[in-house]
Amino acid sequence: MKITKILKFGGSSVGTPKMIKKVGEIVGIASRKENVAVVVSAFQGVTDQLLKCARLAVKNNPQLQIELKILKDRHIKAAEELSRSKKLKVESINYIENIFKELGLALENISKEKQVSNKNLDWVASFGERLSAYIMAISIKNAYLADAREFIKTDNNFVNAQVDFARTNRKINNFFRNKKGIPIITGFLGSTLKGETATLGRGGSDYSAAILGAALNVKVIEIWTDVDGVMSADPRLVKNAIVLPQISYEEAIEMAYFGAKVIHPATMLPAIKKNIPLLIKNTFNSSVPGTLIKKDLIPLPVAKGITSIDDIALVNVGGVSLAGIPGSAARIFEATARRKVNVILISQASSEHTVCFAIKSSELGVALQSLKKEFFKEIKSSQVTLSDISGQCILALVGDGMRGVPGISGRLFKVLGDNGVNIFAIAQGGSERSISFVVDSKNKARALNAVHNEFF
Ligand code: ADP
Ligand code: ASP
Ligand code: MG
Repeated sequence: MKITKILKFGGSSVGTPKMIKKVGEIVGIASRKENVAVVVSAFQGVTDQLLKCARLAVKNNPQLQIELKILKDRHIKAAEELSRSKKLKVESINYIENIFKELGLALENISKEKQVSNKNLDWVASFGERLSAYIMAISIKNAYLADAREFIKTDNNFVNAQVDFARTNRKINNFFRNKKGIPIITGFLGSTLKGETATLGRGGSDYSAAILGAALNVKVIEIWTDVDGVMSADPRLVKNAIVLPQISYEEAIEMAYFGAKVIHPATMLPAIKKNIPLLIKNTFNSSVPGTLIKKDLIPLPVAKGITSIDDIALVNVGGVSLAGIPGSAARIFEATARRKVNVILISQASSEHTVCFAIKSSELGVALQSLKKEFFKEIKSSQVTLSDISGQCILALVGDGMRGVPGISGRLFKVLGDNGVNIFAIAQGGSERSISFVVDSKNKARALNAVHNEFF
C-alpha cells in the first residue's frame, strides 16, 4: 500500500480526549481520499513531566509518586474515553498499567543510581509517545500502532540522536510495504544499532514526520499544530503577528533555527532532498489554509519574520594573542565543541581583538571551564581575557528577500536605536537570509514589537 501523505499532530493537538477526537476526524477525512500515515507527539506537557519524574527520581523525592499517578490517570482516562469497544477498553487499561509498571521500574533504577544518563533520560521520555500513539491507535478506526524504534535508526548521541538515513530509509520502506490500515507512528523516537531507545531532540516529532515522508516519497507532509501557520512572529509575543501563506524551505530553516518553535529546524532537510512540500495547519481551526513551505518562491516582501531565543549568554574572548594569529578561532570553538556546547551565533570584530559568541545560559559553566583550560597559559599571562554576560536573548530578522537589498540592517538598527534597545552583538549569515542580534532579555518584547511594526 503506497502511502502518499503524512499527517503529524503535535502535543498541542493531542492535549485532551476531545482534541484527540478532532484529530480522529481530520485523519478520517484525509484517509478517505488517499493512504495516509500519522505521526504523533506525546500528549501536551507529558515529555516535560516525564523528564521532571527522572529528576525527582535522582533526588529520591516522594513527589515522584504523585506526578506518576497524575500521568497514569490522565492516560487511562483518555483510553477509557476513546476506546472504540468495551473489549478494547479493558485491554487498553491493562496495557497502560503495564507500561507504567515498566516506567516505574526505570525510575526506581534511576533512584538507586542517584544519577541519570542521557540514555536513561531518552528511555523515560519515550513513554510519552509510546502512550499517545497507542491511545490514538485504539481510538481511530482502521488504525494500528507503529513504533518508530523499529525503523528510525540512529547513532548513540542520546537526547539528540543523529539519524542513519541509509538504514532508516530501507527499514521504513520494508516496514510499510505490505501493511494495511492507518499507521499511528510514535514521533520523536528512534533506536540505536544495538536497539536502545534514542530521541531526536526536543520538538523532534516534526523531524520524524519529514524522515518518514521523504523515505516514502509522499506528496505532502502536513504538520498540524495550535496556530494558523508559520507567523511573522511568535503570536504569544507579538499581538499583530500575521500568518505567512508561503515561505521557502530556507526561510523556514532560518526561522526555526532562531526560535520559531512551530517547526523543528531539521524538518526541512529530508523534505528538501525529495522536494516535498510541508504544510503547517491548525488542528483547532482546520479550515484555514495554513502555511505552505516549498522551494523557489519569489521572495516578497523583504523580511518574512522576526524570531527570538531566550536564556542566552554571550561569551567574549579577547586579547592580543588572538589578533592576526591563525587558529585562534579554531581553538575557541574546539574548546566549546569538546564539551558539546552548541554555539548559536558568532561575531568577530575585524580588529580580531575579540571573538564573541552566543550559547544557551545553561551551557555557560562548561563553556567557560573548557575555554579556561584551553587558554590557561594565555589567561595567566593576561594575553587573553574571558568575559560573559547572561540574561540575553537572540532576535533574528528572516527573509529570502533581504538578499542584495541595501538598507535593511540600517532600518533594523535604526528602529532598535529609536526604541532605546542596546545591541550587544550582531551576525549576518553569508546567505543574507537572516540578520541576528543579541539584546538584553528585558528589552525583548519592546524590540520584537518595534521591529515587527517596522517591517510588517
Ligand atoms: P506542537 O505541540 O504542535 O509541536 P509547538 O508548541 O511545538 O506545537 O509549536 C507551536 C507554537 O510555536 C505556537 O503555539 C506558537 O506559540 C509558537 N511559535 C513561535 N514562533 C512562531 C511563529 N513564528 N509562528 C507560529 N508559531 C510560533
Ligand atoms: N514530545 C517531544 C517533546 O516534547 C517531541 C515533540 O513534541 O515534538 O519534545
Ligand atoms: Mg513542536
